[in-house]
Amino acid sequence: MGKGEDDDITPEEDVASLIKSARALPRMDLAERMALMLKEEWRPEVCRICGRQGGQHTELECPLYEKCYTCGGTGSFGYVNRHYCKPDDQVVSLDGDNDADFDLYWDAGRA
Ligand SMILES: [Zn+2]
Ligand SMILES: [Zn+2]
Repeated sequence: MGKGEDDDITPEEDVASLIKSARALPRMDLAERMALMLKEEWRPEVCRICGRQGGQHTELECPLYEKCYTCGGTGSFGYVNRHYCKPDDQVVSLDGDNDADFDLYWDAGRA
């Protein structure tokens, strides 16, 4: 009870606005953080993950952001899901220009 007799604000309005602001605060905070993460435009001067300087990439873009514990490979956000995991002896990176290497593997296998 206590302050139920106040003139300007009825208890109902008071509680309602309290709940409103209490809900709005964490939601805004989360949304702001999400927006920051989704935008990916903020590039830290020094990357917390790999320690590279000069604001070259966001944390999500960091080549050390994700690590595959099967093959030990590292890459940017989503790397573990994207990469073609080749554990053990045959660690072949399929990131692009490795066609020559791949042919070599085949030749070596046949010879
Ligand atoms: Zn980095
Ligand atoms: Zn892997």
